Amino acid sequence: MSSITVTKVAEADFPSRWGHFRVHGFEGVITQPEPCRPGDPPAARRVEGCVALVLGDIHAAPPVVRIHSQCLTGDVFGSLRCDCRQQFELAMQRIGDEGAGILIYEQQEGRGIGLMAKLRAYELQDMGLDTVQANLELGYKADCRIFEIPAKALKLLGVHAVRLITNNPEKIAALEEHGIRVVERISAKVPPASPLAERYLETKQAQMGHLFTEAQTE
Ligand SMILES: [Zn+2]
Repeated sequence: MSSITVTKVAEADFPSRWGHFRVHGFEGVITQPEPCRPGDPPAARRVEGCVALVLGDIHAAPPVVRIHSQCLTGDVFGSLRCDCRQQFELAMQRIGDEGAGILIYEQQEGRGIGLMAKLRAYELQDMGLDTVQANLELGYKADCRIFEIPAKALKLLGVHAVRLITNNPEKIAALEEHGIRVVERISAKVPPASPLAERYLETKQAQMGHLFTEAQTE
C-alpha cells in the first residue's frame, strides 16, 4: 500500500507574462509506489516534484485552479500532437484575468509514463494506434498519474475548495477524494491545433471520458 507525503521546499517571487505570481516548489515522496507498468519491480520510494504558480488572494473565495501535467513536447517544443500548450495558456490567461488563482504543474510526463516511453508511444501512434492503445501496447496503464500530490499541495497552500479548469472528470474525482471540494468546473476546451491533435482529443473524449461541454457549476 503506497503512502504519500508532500512538503514545501521553496517559495519565491515569480513575475510572468500573465501576471506577478509567487512560485512554490513541493516535493511528494511516495513510498511503495504501484508500478505504472504492471510487472515492473516494485520501487521502495519515488520522489515527484510539483510546482504551484500562485497569483493574488487565493483565500477570499475558492480560487480558479488548473492542474497541468508536464508535457515537454507540447509546453516547450510547441508540438501540435496534443493540446497541452494551448490548455496551459488558456489557464494562465484565465488566472491572470481573474487576478487570482493557482496553476499546479506536475512532473508527470506522458500521463506519468515518462518522456522516453511517451516518445515510443508516439512511434506506435505513427503506425496507427491511438494514445490509449499505444500506452497499453507498451505495457503501461492508460493513465499513471497520481493526483494526491496536487491535492496535498493545495491543502498546504490553505485551499480546500476550488473552481477547477478541466475536461477530465478523474481530476475532479481525485481532488474530491483527497478532501478538496470542486465547487465549479471551468471548461479547458481548446480548438484542435492540427488533425493529429484532433484525433488525440477525440480519443480523450471517447476512451478517457473527457468532457467537451461548456462549464458547469455544482
Ligand atoms: Zn502534450
